[in-house]
Amino acid sequence: MQMSKLSTSMVYLVIGPPGKQRVRASQTLLMLVIFVLFAFVQHAEVLFGLIDEAESWQLTTYNLIGATLFYGLIRSGLNEKLPFEPSLTVPQMVFGLGALTWSYAITGPARGAVMSIMMLVLVYGMFALRPSDARRLAILGFAMLSSVMVYNAIFNAQHYNPRVELIHLIFAAIVTGGVAALAARFGQMRRHLSDQKAELAAALERIQALATRDVLTGLLNRRAMLEQLDQQSNEQERRGTPMCLALFDLDHFKRINDEHGHAIGDRVLKTFASVAQEEVRGGDVLARWGGEEFLLMMPDTPIDLAFRCVQRIHSAILATDFDNVPDDLRVTFSAGLAVCRTTDDVEAAIDRADRAMYKAKSAGRNRTELADEAS
Ligand code: GH3
Ligand code: MG
Ligand code: MG
Repeated sequence: MQMSKLSTSMVYLVIGPPGKQRVRASQTLLMLVIFVLFAFVQHAEVLFGLIDEAESWQLTTYNLIGATLFYGLIRSGLNEKLPFEPSLTVPQMVFGLGALTWSYAITGPARGAVMSIMMLVLVYGMFALRPSDARRLAILGFAMLSSVMVYNAIFNAQHYNPRVELIHLIFAAIVTGGVAALAARFGQMRRHLSDQKAELAAALERIQALATRDVLTGLLNRRAMLEQLDQQSNEQERRGTPMCLALFDLDHFKRINDEHGHAIGDRVLKTFASVAQEEVRGGDVLARWGGEEFLLMMPDTPIDLAFRCVQRIHSAILATDFDNVPDDLRVTFSAGLAVCRTTDDVEAAIDRADRAMYKAKSAGRNRTELADEAS
């Protein structure tokens, strides 16, 4: 237990808390570790008499200071303030290509192996970068390496056989060209994948809307409302505050359909929904409960406030000029309002609201009646 606590705090100290910065810090730390290993190999080459010791120390100093600097930038968070992409992948790769070119220049006969490591760096870029950046870095790597090859072949021919350099140059060109082509292919695949992902997300959104929304009014449908009621009833149990439920039924709606046609009836339903929706408060939920019936859920609302809200909807509907609807058509509704306390059953509360709504119908319509308290 003690040990695992200690190792967790060590990990926090070295690469920081979980998140993007930790991924970046561990990548940079990996580069630092690779350069430390590289320093050992290089000094073995010094022992074998393949590299000059002073030159080797210079390169090791460049590598270790550079890698430590990148690690420090990321671990301190300074990377997020620099004018580069915060992972610093491109600057780190340019630095790495510089280190490997330098190494190629001083490694003598074993330099072919250095070239293969440079290709590894370029292939890494292919996965981590945009195709255009990966291509640019491949070209930069090839330009740096080929300059050293040409320079050595011309000015240092007794140690660097120009024919060997030519073969290296050709190999470097083939591999760089291959990396550039693969980077483009990868880019296409990534684009294709992200297009597919976006299409899937849009399809999912459409399916969700179809499953939860009423097509005509855009309000929640009955099934989605049942879910909301269930969720709200759990939450109110936790908070201990009651909610109010209001059931609306348009008056003589059959007559509207019969006298003016189904299309006008649809338009009335749509307008009713949008006008009522405008009048409800942020946390309230209005749904199309069925045909010409709507259910309004008002969480954490005392009955007098809920009653006022329903009255506001009555006034707003009366004041509404229903577009494309004959002027003589008066649209009204009857409502039943019930309190649903934390201990009440939601379905029973809806039934009480329904009975109150029928009371409003019998009392002459265009009014709101309060439901009896739950027994
Ligand atoms: P009351 O005042 O007693 O509620 O009378 P009403 O005519 O509104 O009640 P009734 O239940 O007899 O009629 C409801 C009508 O609503 C019947 C049905 O055709 C119509 N209706 C239900 N859904 C839709 C719809 O989506 N569009 C249209 N245009 N009409 C609908
Ligand atoms: Mg009805
Ligand atoms: Mg009706």
